[in-house]
This record gives sequence, C-alpha cells and structure tokens, in this order.
Amino acid sequence: MKISIIGTGYVGLVTGVCLAKLGNQVIFIDLDENKIKKIKKSRSPIYEEGLEELLKKHKKNITATTKYKQAIKETTVTIICVGTPPKKDGTPDYTNLKKAAGEIGDVLKKKKTWHLIIVKSTVLPGTTQNIIIPILEQHSGKKTGRDYGVAVNPEFLREGAAVKDFLQPDRIIYGYTDKKTRDTMRELYKNFKCPILETTTLSTAEMIKYASNAFLATKISFINEIGNICKHIGVNTYEVADGIGLDKRIGRAFLDSGIGWGGSCFPKDLDAIISYAKKINEKTRILTSVKKVNQQQPLKMIKLLKKHLPSLKDKTIGVLGLAYKPDTDDIRETRAIPIIKQLIKEKAKIKTYDPEAMNNFKKIYPQLEYCKKPSDVLEADAVLITTKWDEFTKLDYTKTKIVIDGRNIKEAKKAKIYEGVCW
Ligand code: NAD
Repeated sequence: MKISIIGTGYVGLVTGVCLAKLGNQVIFIDLDENKIKKIKKSRSPIYEEGLEELLKKHKKNITATTKYKQAIKETTVTIICVGTPPKKDGTPDYTNLKKAAGEIGDVLKKKKTWHLIIVKSTVLPGTTQNIIIPILEQHSGKKTGRDYGVAVNPEFLREGAAVKDFLQPDRIIYGYTDKKTRDTMRELYKNFKCPILETTTLSTAEMIKYASNAFLATKISFINEIGNICKHIGVNTYEVADGIGLDKRIGRAFLDSGIGWGGSCFPKDLDAIISYAKKINEKTRILTSVKKVNQQQPLKMIKLLKKHLPSLKDKTIGVLGLAYKPDTDDIRETRAIPIIKQLIKEKAKIKTYDPEAMNNFKKIYPQLEYCKKPSDVLEADAVLITTKWDEFTKLDYTKTKIVIDGRNIKEAKKAKIYEGVCW
C-alpha cells in the first residue's frame, strides 16, 4: 500500500517504519524540518531500540517531506499520528489534529481517487465523529463513507519496546465508517497474527484506548499503595505482587511498586478522561485517587532521604535516571521532575546521569550537573534511583553513602545505607 504518515513522533515514526518493513511505501509528513531532514538521512530523531536500523534497511520504501499536498496525493492511506497534548484544564489540545484534518481535506478536494484517513492519535470518544469528520467534509466538499473513509485505530505501543509492540501487538482495535474502509483496514493488517477487534462505532475504539491506559495506571497506583503499607510492616511487596499476580484474573504485569507512572500517555490520558467525565457530569472517584497516589509517590523518596539527611541545603544529591522509564529518551511527566523540583527547593546540589535522556532534560533544567558516567553520581552525599535502566543494576554501590531506591535495584542494596521506597 502507499501510506502517508502525519507526525513523526514516537507513534508516527515507529508505525511508518514498521509498515515500510512490511513492504508498504511510506511518506512521512511533519512540520518539524529538522525531523524530516534526519529521516531523509535515515537517522531517527528519537531513540527507540531497533528503529534506526529498520529506517536504514528499508530506506527504499521511505520518503519524508514537510509538504502535505504531494504526500497525500501520492498515497491511498493517511495515518494521523500528531500529538494531542493536554491543555491546562486537562482536556486534549486538538490544534495539531484539526490542522492535519484541514490539510488532508484540502488535498482530497482535488483528489480524484478514494482515500482512507486513519486516526491513530489518542482522542476522546466522539472526537473523530464530531470534530475530525466535519473538518474533512468542510475542506474537501466531499462525503465521508462515500468519497473517502475514516477509521479510528488507537495505538498501544510502549515506548522503549515500540518496534516490537507495533509488529507483535496483543491486539489491533479499529472502528470504521464504511465497508470499503473496513476491507482496507483488514488488508493493512492482514499479516498480523494477533486478535483484531472491529468495533461497532468510532467512539468505542476511542474509548478502548482511554480505558486501557486508565486501568494500567490504576494497577500501578494500587500496588504502590499496597507497597507503602508493606514497607511499614516489613513485608516484601514484590513477593505480594508475585502472589496476587498468579491469579489469572489479576495477572503479574504492572504490579511492580515504585515511584509511579509518567510518560506522555498515562498522565495526559487520565486527565483527559477525568475532565471529560466532569463535563458530562459523571464522577471519577477511582481515577481521581489513582492520580493523587501518583502525585504523592515520588515525594516519598524525599521523605525517606530526609530521615537520613534532615537538611538538604548544599548537600550533593545524585539522581540516577531522568527518562520516565528505561530504554527511552522521553522525559515527559517523568517522576524525576517532581523529585528534582523539591531538591532544588531545598537548595540541594544535584548531579545526575541518564544514558539517553540528558539532552532532553538539559533543555528544562540546564543548572544541574550532568555526569559522563553513572559511577560519578554514586559519589554524592546520597543517591536517588528514579529510572530502572539496566546499567544501573550493574554498578558498584558498596561505597555509596546513602541510596534511596525508587525502582527496586538489587545491587543498590549493598550501599552503606539503603532504603527502598516501598520495601
Ligand atoms: P510526539 O509529540 O512524539 O510526536 C508528534 C509529532 O507530530 C511531532 O513530530 C510534531 O512535530 C508532529 N506534528 C504536530 N502537528 C503536526 C501537523 N499539523 N502536521 C504534521 N506534523 C505535526 O507524539 P507521540 O508520542 O508520537 O504521540 C502521538 C499520538 O499518539 C498522541 O495522541 C499520543 O497520545 C498517542 N500515543 C502515544 C504513545 C506513546 O507511547 N508516545 C502511545 C500510544 C498513543
């Protein structure tokens, strides 16, 4: 198939490169010229394991541009993967999405052949039907479901394992407007072995994405609350997780207690569904608590730290890990941020290391000391472990004075003083 991808972030780039690997011709469109320049040189603008290799290997199937017109004209399918960041009130900002829909509509106006538009960006239930389709119809002067089709196909990939998750997903979910769209979606995903759920409405597919993320965030906040209790009574929370995880109705995944969830999706998607519920006058008692637990959890590290160092003023505190989770350079809503904010407030000197995320972090916190290697951080008065990078599991902590561990790293227990956040 000939496919254009709008937005070359984590979702767009991975989707496009994987579809190119599967033999499709892919054209990337992004407003960011730097990203397009890099992709043209087969260099990945983001870090994801295996992505750059695939980009190089399948470069014959890949082109990139900042111009919509040619790209949409030359392809049959357009996948919208632009960001839907949160506004101040928690609702998603659809500015990028509306712009993309308008641009597609303008091209469709003159395009003589059928086209399929797939919404992969995460959007609240009703958005495709009530916002995107009207923009497409207004700009194209054409009718959805007759002159072109629309599908909602949420993405469930995890950053850090994005290529693998895209190519071997647990499931594929899509809603569609008409039979031709459904058949084209079936063709697009014909080589995937996982279950495929075709939903009865576009909104159902949109809601599945929010419900999935809300449930996963709930699992983590739940086990963190259990972990906080376990710490008090000297029970190993990981053993508890193993025990309850053996129940097939519960499952072991997402039951590692620590300092909580971050990233570009859980926080924003939870805020979005909470503010959406508020708008329609529905209460979100569970989801609001899930969020509250997550806000308080990272600060438990500071509380534990102050047990050993009552004043942090002029103390050197090492922070190991800035990415919101291992194997990514993404720092959006990373749990390191509230911790570092508090350390700055208490006038501590901060030295930090992260294998991939330091450049991104420097843009918002240029004043920190960024170390060349993780062992430099271990010389601080105390060290906080905030991301579970594999290389942090291989460090020699024996000479480190104090470690407060937010991610359960076994080796770190050899530090002179060691405290786990929930263990
Ligand atoms: P991102 O911020 O990494 O990338 C978005 C890209 O879109 C950027 O490169 C930006 O320059 C480009 N863009 C913005 N407006 C544009 C426009 N009008 N035309 C062309 N390009 C434009 O975002 P992301 O993390 O890839 O997320 C994209 C969507 O997928 C979001 O809705 C997100 O919630 C959802 N999602 C993300 C993940 C994830 O793990 N990151 C997983 C599943 C779903």
